[in-house]
Amino acid sequence: MAASSEPATSVAESASGTPEYVDAVVIGSGFGGSVTAYRLAEAGRSVILMERGHAYPPGTFARTPIEFAENFWSPADELYGLFETWSFRGLEGLVSSGLGGGSLIYANVLLRKDPEWFVHDSPLPGGGYENWPIGREDLDPYYDRVERMLDATPYPYHDTPKTETFALAAKAAGHEPFRPPLAVTFTGRDGELGGYLPIEPKPYGNIHGRMRYTCALSGECDIGCNSGAKNSLDHTYVSAAAHHGADVRTLHEVRGFRPVDGMWEVRYRRHRPNEGPPVEGTVRAARVVLGAGTFGSTYLLLKNRASLPGLSPALGSRFSGNGDLLGFLMGAKEQIDKVARARRITGSRGPVITSAIRIGDRVDGDGSAGRGYYVQEAGYPGFLNWMIETAQLKSVVSRSTRVALRMLANRLSMRGESNISGDLANVLGRTALSTSSLPVLGMGRDVPDGKMYLDRGRLAVDWTTTTSIDYFAAMRETMSKFAEELGAKYVDNPLWWAKRVITVHPLGGAPMGRNHFEGVVDEWGGVFGHPGLSVVDGAAMPGPVGPNPSLTIAAFADRAADHALEQWPKSRRRRRRTDATQPATGASQPTGGMSPMDANAAEQPGPGGPSGNGAVATSVAFTEQMKGFFVLGQGEPRSAAQDARVRDERMMFELTITAPDIDEFVSGDAHEGTASGYLESDALGGRLEVERGWFNLFVLAGHEEDRLMKYRLWLTTEGGSPVTFVGYKEVRDDPGFDLWEDTTTLFVQVLDGHVPPGTDVAATGLLDPDDPSVLGAGVLRIKPLDFAEQMTTFTTTGPGGAQAIARFGGLFLGKLWSTYGRLARAEDA
Ligand SMILES: Cc1cc2nc3c(=O)[nH]c(=O)nc-3n(C[C@H](O)[C@H](O)[C@H](O)COP(=O)(O)OP(=O)(O)OC[C@H]3O[C@@H](n4cnc5c(N)ncnc54)[C@H](O)[C@@H]3O)c2cc1C
Ligand code: SF4
Repeated sequence: MAASSEPATSVAESASGTPEYVDAVVIGSGFGGSVTAYRLAEAGRSVILMERGHAYPPGTFARTPIEFAENFWSPADELYGLFETWSFRGLEGLVSSGLGGGSLIYANVLLRKDPEWFVHDSPLPGGGYENWPIGREDLDPYYDRVERMLDATPYPYHDTPKTETFALAAKAAGHEPFRPPLAVTFTGRDGELGGYLPIEPKPYGNIHGRMRYTCALSGECDIGCNSGAKNSLDHTYVSAAAHHGADVRTLHEVRGFRPVDGMWEVRYRRHRPNEGPPVEGTVRAARVVLGAGTFGSTYLLLKNRASLPGLSPALGSRFSGNGDLLGFLMGAKEQIDKVARARRITGSRGPVITSAIRIGDRVDGDGSAGRGYYVQEAGYPGFLNWMIETAQLKSVVSRSTRVALRMLANRLSMRGESNISGDLANVLGRTALSTSSLPVLGMGRDVPDGKMYLDRGRLAVDWTTTTSIDYFAAMRETMSKFAEELGAKYVDNPLWWAKRVITVHPLGGAPMGRNHFEGVVDEWGGVFGHPGLSVVDGAAMPGPVGPNPSLTIAAFADRAADHALEQWPKSRRRRRRTDATQPATGASQPTGGMSPMDANAAEQPGPGGPSGNGAVATSVAFTEQMKGFFVLGQGEPRSAAQDARVRDERMMFELTITAPDIDEFVSGDAHEGTASGYLESDALGGRLEVERGWFNLFVLAGHEEDRLMKYRLWLTTEGGSPVTFVGYKEVRDDPGFDLWEDTTTLFVQVLDGHVPPGTDVAATGLLDPDDPSVLGAGVLRIKPLDFAEQMTTFTTTGPGGAQAIARFGGLFLGKLWSTYGRLARAEDA
């Protein structure tokens, strides 16, 4: 359900038509982002908080089936809802998209990470270590602060069946149950405990401008709290940030960022559901803080690698699902008068989680073995009871039929019984299944050996349960014991049958570490080698938190904000201005990296247009696809390609090479044509369209058969960084060289900025491998079959016809044309 109103502080950046400069852009309004936005704004910094999702004031969360069906985040499908679901190898992931991030759909549990679980140099299967550069003592003051801000309090009621049942089972199984602090308001203005009581407004106001009411025990915390009882981030940190002047913008999805002139330029897309196509924009800031969550922040870093030279090789590493496992205790029983009856657990009453147990870990040093974990009872919304019951539809139908027949008989016999409540109750049956069943959620120290990367521009995660299988076995045993104590049946969630898990606590991808090799960010979230850029969310966790992670993420962000404020130059306070000299919106063309020559570069002639002398020109074009390996951070193509092959870092392009005027092409010195199409490289963020491309075929002086084919493509990464792809093939017909190999091998570099033609130092167009402008290098090839296919793509326009192709081909391929040219000519005929 779309929110009825977006925050009042939201400013349409296009209204002024000018770009903005602020102290900090914070990306994402979850636990990392909203804490940071508040702390920076409170300290007097100008802050823009960009959140891709809607705002959800109390009362606007989806409840009907049609609202639920539309409640997913997938702008490509015109869906702008609350839930974002991911499916990867070995696991599924569920996160939120909305103002307040995960707090909108989380279960309110705020637990501190166990002191011993901040492990150091803990070896991982397959190499590497889990290492936390911070300890519990570093976070404790911040844990205190966040708990105060979120009014964390244990569940106060003592007559809630699921809480009491969980405690009973835990004790019977030999564990000590406890009630974790919850970020929920249970007491009204005058301190009275009860549901639906007005909540005392905060001194910093509320960004939604709506009244909030105390917890109604509806069990709907995971689908959004319509009463406003959850102390979610929109009601707390985001409201406080707005109070201190932060500019909170919903439906603003950040696409990328890059350093420009000592600042950061952030590119974003403003979604306009039901209004029109999205609007693109940029804003510049001294600091960019990534709080887009584990999936969001790691994805943005992977997408923008080309703009961030020297980014740590640890990017994408240490992924973990925080050991999440969902199980079910089905059909619990109790003895009443020596008769086993369905136990009334009523999992839908009360907040989703009210109690927990903790199982020790071998690192605790108290004799515990294995990897530690928590198990919590997990309630669910009341209306799910109806779904559970209607899943038993067959028996409902037969019960309905029986009752209908009885009512009919009643009518026919004129018995005239008007009270049919008993009959209707029969239709509903005893609803034993929903009443006596309870989901349980386990989480803890699984093995953080997952890897996040881009696969054809899309986020991929490789993580499986294999290395954590003992951990999950122990957890399932604990859950089964609970079931046993309650006379219930333990049932795995169906994903487990395929050894898959669903995580609501994804972590890692941009882990903190002691240095550039161990982590992407330092202990304060600062990205190594990129001052002013930081990651403050779940992505920065170098391993599982263990208990529910949001409190640790928030405390980490709070500590990072302290550090950022200490480091901030004193002169740079509350800087916010606009500059009318540059456009703010629209598909803005980045200027950084372009030389003045760019602006003056002559427009390329289109194919088949008038030639220089006014006669109609004959054009020739063909399409070429090449594939190979490319890696950032290296300059020498051959060794870079070897390295890229090991890392499986691929690159390909599909280009249409056009000689717009075959006469000019053949007779000119540079034999210049144009190149259009696209290039795909996950190192550069996925698929990039060629904005402008040049192709040259040089016949080397005095060597009719020796030629050099040169490619130059201007591209722009998603973060707005202009880059230039340069490549060359050498073709020599000397007996010592392999003509085929020469013709099909393209040596490649990608350079910073849009480097214009005519500025080459070397004939090949490539720079010295150590030149700082070289972002990466590699080698692309074309296979014989693809080459044969390429020959069939030759087309021509204008009066020259097949002859033009022959002239082009002869120059293009020399001796090889006599072999392959037949294919081109055959197609043309
Ligand atoms: C059902 C459920 C129950 C949970 N229960 C608990 C619990 O009880 N206790 C607990 O500690 N944790 C719980 N969690 C986990 C908790 O919600 C997450 O650990 C936490 O929200 C992660 O915080 P974060 O700051 O890393 O990211 P998030 O809170 O996920 O915030 C990221 C934000 O960034 C936005 N974003 C992403 N990409 C972009 C972009 N490109 N541009 C702009 N904005 C962007 C997203 O929309 C989102 O709002 C639960 C999660 C779920 C799904
Ligand atoms: S139980 Fe219901 S009212 Fe209480 S916090 Fe959860 S969703 Fe809100």
